[in-house]
Amino acid sequence: KSKNAGRNCFHVYSPELKAEADQRNILEIELREAIWREEIEVFYQPVVELGTGRTKSVEALARWRHCTRGLIPPAEFIPVAEECGLIVELGNLVLAKACRHAMMMPDDIKVAVNLSALQLASGNLVDSVMYALADSGLAETRLELEITESVFLADSQENLKTLERLRRLGVSIALDDFGVGYSSLSYLTAFPFNKVKIDKSFIDRIGRSETVAVLGSIVQLAKTLNLSIVAEGVETYEQVEKVRLLGIALGQGYFFSKPVPFGELLLQGLAESERQAVA
Ligand code: C2E
Ligand code: MG
Ligand code: MG
Ligand code: MG
Repeated sequence: KSKNAGRNCFHVYSPELKAEADQRNILEIELREAIWREEIEVFYQPVVELGTGRTKSVEALARWRHCTRGLIPPAEFIPVAEECGLIVELGNLVLAKACRHAMMMPDDIKVAVNLSALQLASGNLVDSVMYALADSGLAETRLELEITESVFLADSQENLKTLERLRRLGVSIALDDFGVGYSSLSYLTAFPFNKVKIDKSFIDRIGRSETVAVLGSIVQLAKTLNLSIVAEGVETYEQVEKVRLLGIALGQGYFFSKPVPFGELLLQGLAESERQAVA
């Protein structure tokens, strides 16, 4: 398959590669159409305060409702969207839908939207965010944007300026998937983030003393910087307990809920949060 491509350029003419390229082109055409028809759906996964069990925010996660293939996960279409330049449009659609949905949630709940580094570099992210807020009527303070360390790789001065403009609007910025890839605690100090989300890979290894030691220093630094901390990908009660012992106040993961469609979120997660608020 594609790994042969680098070995010999004559493979470009193989029927196998042609089929792969065709499939890819079809996917791209279908994705363009799906965005245009607004067939990208937004699922939501709660971020829970471990001490109270209350939902503090929900993360918007894109799903493609494909007419024949069913629900396609973001890992299969976000990279395609990034390569063919559809990510800005796709991102704006998710942003618009998430802001509109958030207007129908209790107003102490924030909505978090993932951003691609390409959206940040596009030059019109601030306008898109302002538009989505104005269009929905959502308060700036209820929107959170999640970025990854990758935004610090290219054109990082421009990206930092854009992030600063977003912060000045009143929007919060979270550093997602912290600890994978580029590693480096210095990214935490590169920008006044509101929140850091500790990658699932740490939570998977939280039973090991080395992991606990590393997490301990991340937590300490985050607290010094006044950042709120989320443990991502919490799946078991044991992990919840270990995360809490480390002084991490927020958790997200299948233990609490998988990402669910908006309608289901209203029925389950948020009803719970309101029930507890009343009690
Ligand atoms: P992410 O932003 O780090 O989102 C967390 C991912 O981990 C989600 O996968 C979520 O379903 C999954 N997850 C949460 N808790 C657990 C758990 O306990 N166990 C396991 N195994 N997985 C868990 P999902 O929805 O497939 O999204 C994958 C990635 O795709 C996201 O990672 C994000 O980077 C990207 N993505 C999703 N929606 C968008 C979007 O609208 N725009 C952009 N640019 N990227 C998006
Ligand atoms: Mg995220
Ligand atoms: Mg993440
Ligand atoms: Mg991730």
